Amino acid sequence: MIDYPRTSFGWSATSPAGSADPTSGLVVHYNGPATNLSSHAGCVAYWKGVRDQHVNGNQWADIGYSFGVDVCGHIFEGRGLRKYQAAQGTSSGNANWYSVSLMIGGSEQPTAAQIEGVRRLRAWLMGAYGAAGTVRGHRDFVSTSCPGAPLYAMVTDGTFTQAPGSAASISQEDPLIGAREGESGQVVTAIQRLIVQAGQGAALGPTGVDGDWGAKTSEALMLVRQSVGSSVTTPIRVMNGETYGQLLTAMARRQVALYAPTCEYDGSSSTEGSATALPSSETVTITGTLKRN
Ligand SMILES: [Zn+2]
Ligand SMILES: [Zn+2]
Repeated sequence: MIDYPRTSFGWSATSPAGSADPTSGLVVHYNGPATNLSSHAGCVAYWKGVRDQHVNGNQWADIGYSFGVDVCGHIFEGRGLRKYQAAQGTSSGNANWYSVSLMIGGSEQPTAAQIEGVRRLRAWLMGAYGAAGTVRGHRDFVSTSCPGAPLYAMVTDGTFTQAPGSAASISQEDPLIGAREGESGQVVTAIQRLIVQAGQGAALGPTGVDGDWGAKTSEALMLVRQSVGSSVTTPIRVMNGETYGQLLTAMARRQVALYAPTCEYDGSSSTEGSATALPSSETVTITGTLKRN
């Protein structure tokens, strides 16, 4: 749904741009230089300025983008639905993909509300207008720095393809977000420690926590997600917000179970304070009932 239609900016209700049916997905754009926007009024003024530049400067039929998402998370109408774009830089890109400008520069991070706004826009285009759920960046079509490093990282790590309302509170600056299979180092070590804490240490195989993200780590992450109810059936090769949230959920549930005062374990509980001391084929049987404190 559009929060601010064209008419709210004083423009014609329908864009004069040519018709198209962009069903391939959504392409993310930025502004280039920092915009320093911090208020809705500022965003409205910015959006009007972009159209002025595109129409009176570039001599285009209309503002180039289909939509904008402002820093407070509102969806602004540009050319709107079923219109040819002037954004992606290729004819097929402009005919087959919707475009969204996030109104920030390459040195700026999107707000959490903005990320949520892109998710809402994508879900709406998919549900009501048959668009595919694919999200790309401008640079996937032509050689350009757009949409800038922070936004492009989110395009590739799946941040924008999550359902609205999911895991939106996880910081995009968390170094674990975006880690992937094939990588090595302390970030991978941290993820593997969390996997052990979440109860799937055995799935890491004999090498255990080794700081190398191979196939076993991807499988272990799939098992972690399944353990908290996800229906995912393929190994998880990238740490996105959804997986991270479920990893923390699985870990928290297991810690509650392990340390609940009325629980009994099969075997000694003396090693439970140290994740690395857990046997690799660990089974924990919980008897009794959990008490609320
Ligand atoms: Zn762009
Ligand atoms: Zn706003």
